[in-house]
Formats: sequence, structure tokens, C-alpha cells
Amino acid sequence: MSREIRVRIAPSPTGDPHVGTAYIALFNYAFAKKNGGKFVLRIEDTDQTRARASSEQQILASLKWLGLNWDEGPDCGGPFGPYRQSERTEIYRQHAQLLIDKGHAYKCFCTPERLDELRQQQKAAGQTTRYDGQCRGLTPAQVSGKLLEKIPHVVRLSAPKAGVIRFQDYLRGELEFEHDRVDDQVLLKTDGFPTYHLANVVDDHLMQITHVIRAEEWISSTPKHVLLYRAFGWDEPVFCHMPLLRNADKSKISKRKNPVSLAYYKRAGILPHALNNFLALMGWSYGEDREIFELSDMIEVFDLKKISLGGPVFDLVKLTWLNQHYMHRMDDHAFVDYIRNEIFNPEYLLKMKPLVLERMTRFEQFVDKNSFFFNGALDYHGVEVIPSSKDSESMRVMLTELLDLFDGIDDWNTKTIHDVLNIHREKIAWKPKDYFMTVRMITTGRKDSPPLAETLEVLGREIVRFRVKDVLDHGLQQVKKS
Ligand code: GLU
Repeated sequence: MSREIRVRIAPSPTGDPHVGTAYIALFNYAFAKKNGGKFVLRIEDTDQTRARASSEQQILASLKWLGLNWDEGPDCGGPFGPYRQSERTEIYRQHAQLLIDKGHAYKCFCTPERLDELRQQQKAAGQTTRYDGQCRGLTPAQVSGKLLEKIPHVVRLSAPKAGVIRFQDYLRGELEFEHDRVDDQVLLKTDGFPTYHLANVVDDHLMQITHVIRAEEWISSTPKHVLLYRAFGWDEPVFCHMPLLRNADKSKISKRKNPVSLAYYKRAGILPHALNNFLALMGWSYGEDREIFELSDMIEVFDLKKISLGGPVFDLVKLTWLNQHYMHRMDDHAFVDYIRNEIFNPEYLLKMKPLVLERMTRFEQFVDKNSFFFNGALDYHGVEVIPSSKDSESMRVMLTELLDLFDGIDDWNTKTIHDVLNIHREKIAWKPKDYFMTVRMITTGRKDSPPLAETLEVLGREIVRFRVKDVLDHGLQQVKKS
């Protein structure tokens, strides 16, 4: 009997849910459903310095919004749980020990200073930076001595030093990497947490994943994974690396050039059917020149072998065209439901309430005064945005910095936004009036909008960054000086 197909999406909850996660989830989902298999959601949160619980919730919500429902995951459980890696650390420790016992891994006591020095020396000599294997040859007595002294250690894989490692990629055929390029990778860090490589391989094995369908950017990690499978003596899953989504200039999709947050697309009024349809077209075609199809149609004819490797360009014009099509197909019920749930969403209205009531005397004013809470791009024609004492170059510098600062905020709330704006204003030494009015005009399009940081919190990071970027990309010529 052939094995049940089991695939997974394994996002790291370190930021806004990324459109690339939806893209990979969609193909895993379609493959699982086509083959009567299971689609697993695993949260890879072992990087404790970067993992955020709020990001995990947003990832789950975004995938649900797209209808890419998983059979097993941290919220619904399943036979191979827990599905959050931070709850599985003991499993990784045991497996690292297993590799030490088999002679495939070793404890390394090198200090960060030594490793840094080594890296510098290798760089200076024009060599690839890699661990030199100093601790590989420690005797059991030396290891015990260092453990007794409580010297912090990591666990590293003993990677072969010569020859090549080969593995099959489902779409690319055989790939070959020189062992020389595979470092003695760290498996367990000094804090006892696993690295991505160890946790990913152990989990894919224990969760009985049959096909690892993930983005092309992980190809260079795959030799390390294959070495680990072999060291454990486990069968490898099928590896299938999907082509990367690209910006129009063919570079890897990035927020510098395209909105990448799923929350942005939801906020911009893109329908989930349209986004799924669009993502499906990135690297796959239905055939018969058919461009418009539902997820269920895709599943019916889906064949993983038909993924094409040409770098798919994330073309917003195409997405908008598809969206328009799906909008026009909505029946009365779906139309009213959408406006009620997504545009005039009760939760959103309640967040607005304390900010807008003060500025209204009659409800007829609601739509006009508050349109910026519902719009995407604003029309800056004739709007006074650039303070008279500044030119467009200083505006460009200021807005570019502001985008970076907004991106760097972990928890988007009134206090953090307020702090960032104040620090930035002080740093660039703009007059408060000029600075805050500029940010206000760009993000709300009006002078009389409610308190700034509160308003930005309610608007949400996606739409705020979209507007700042819109002015940077298209608006600086049009915006008037005050
Ligand atoms: N945690 C990795 C990510 O963030 C998973 C990569 C993989 O699928 O192996 O995408």
C-alpha cells in the first residue's frame, strides 16, 4: 500500500504574514487535496529572539481567510503534535544526542570571539567562512572536563570534508553540492534551542512528511538536511523547490518594490478567491489558456510536475484584473456581506469610534470626514504636503527613513508609533509642526484628522506604509508645498 501523502507549511512567526507563505501553502494544499493526503501547519518559532505570538495568530488568520485550511496544526492538534517547535525542544535535544552517540555530531566549546576571529582570518585570505573543526577531535575526557567547567557549548554536525552530496529535486532533477560548501552546521545552540536545520528535519521525519514543497531559497539548505537524514539513517522526503516570486525587475519579491503582507491585500479589498487564483498562476497553468479558476478547479487538475520554473513576476495589474472579475461575479448576498464584514467591519468601526465622534455633529458627515479610514491610496493632487522650508530631496530622505522605522516596530500601537515619530523628528531636527503635519497629510490626506499616532494604529501598518511608499514612488512631484 502506498503511503499517505503528507505535506506541510512551516512558517516562522517573525513578522507580517507574507504573500510567499500563502503561495507555498496554496501549492501544498492543492497537492494534498488532489492526492487525498494531509496538509500540516507547523510553526517554526525556535528563533526566540525574533518569534512573536501576534505574528503566529496573523499567519493563521491569513491562511484561514484564503481558505487554505490545515488538517493538523497548533490550534487543532493532530496525531504528531505539538505543532509549535518551541514546545518540542526536548525532542530536538534527544535527537542531537542520538547523533552524538552515533558519532555524527559533536559538542563545540569555541567562544564567539574565537569564531569571529576565524571568520575574519578566512575572509582576509579570500576563503569561504566556515568552522575549522577544532572541537571535532576532542577526546571524551576533554569534553567531560569542559562540561564540568560549565563552558557553554553548541552541538555541530560532523559533515564530510570531501566529495559531493547529491539529491533529487522533484522539478530540477539531480542537484550536486560539494561537501566543501557544507559547514559543520550548528544543530543545537548554546541556549539548548535547535537551529532551523535540525528542527526542520526532525519534525519532517517525525510528522511523516512525504513531500517537502517549499521556496527555492531553501535549496542551499537542502544538502545540510540531506546530510542530517543520512546521519540519522532516515529516508528522505521528496524535495520540491518552487520558483521564487519576483518583482517586475526579476529580483526576489520584496517590500521595497511590492506590498508583501497578506494583511495589506486583505485591507486593499482583494478577494481571497482572486488572490488564490493569482498565486496559482505564478508557476502553474490550468491549461486550455484558462486564467480564471477556483481553488476546487485547480485541485481537480493539479499536477506538481507541471510547475514551471521561470521566475514568476508578481504583477499587481493582473491581480487587480482578476479581482475585478471576482467582484463582478458576487451575488447580492456576497456583495452585502463583504461590505459589512470587510469594509464596515464592526471591530474596525469600534476602534475608530473614539477618534471620529469628536469631529462629528451629524452622521451624514461620517463618510466624507473619515474616507481615509477606508481608502487605500489617497489622492494628493493639490494637497499641501511638503513644508515650505523643505525640498523634495529632504522629503525623500525623511520618508525613506520613516518607512524603515515603521518596519522596525515590533508591536504596532499608539505608544510605539508615538515614540518612533518623536525620535525621528528629533534626529532630523524638523520643526514639530512641519514634521507632524507632513506625516499626517501623507497618511490621512487631511489637516483635521484625529490624533496622529492613534489614527496610525487604527489604520494599521500595511496601509500606512503603503501610503508613505506611494508618495515616495509617485507623489513627490505632485504634492504641493505648504
Ligand atoms: N521556517 C522556514 C520558513 O520560514 C521553513 C522552510 C521550509 O519549508 O523548510 O519558511
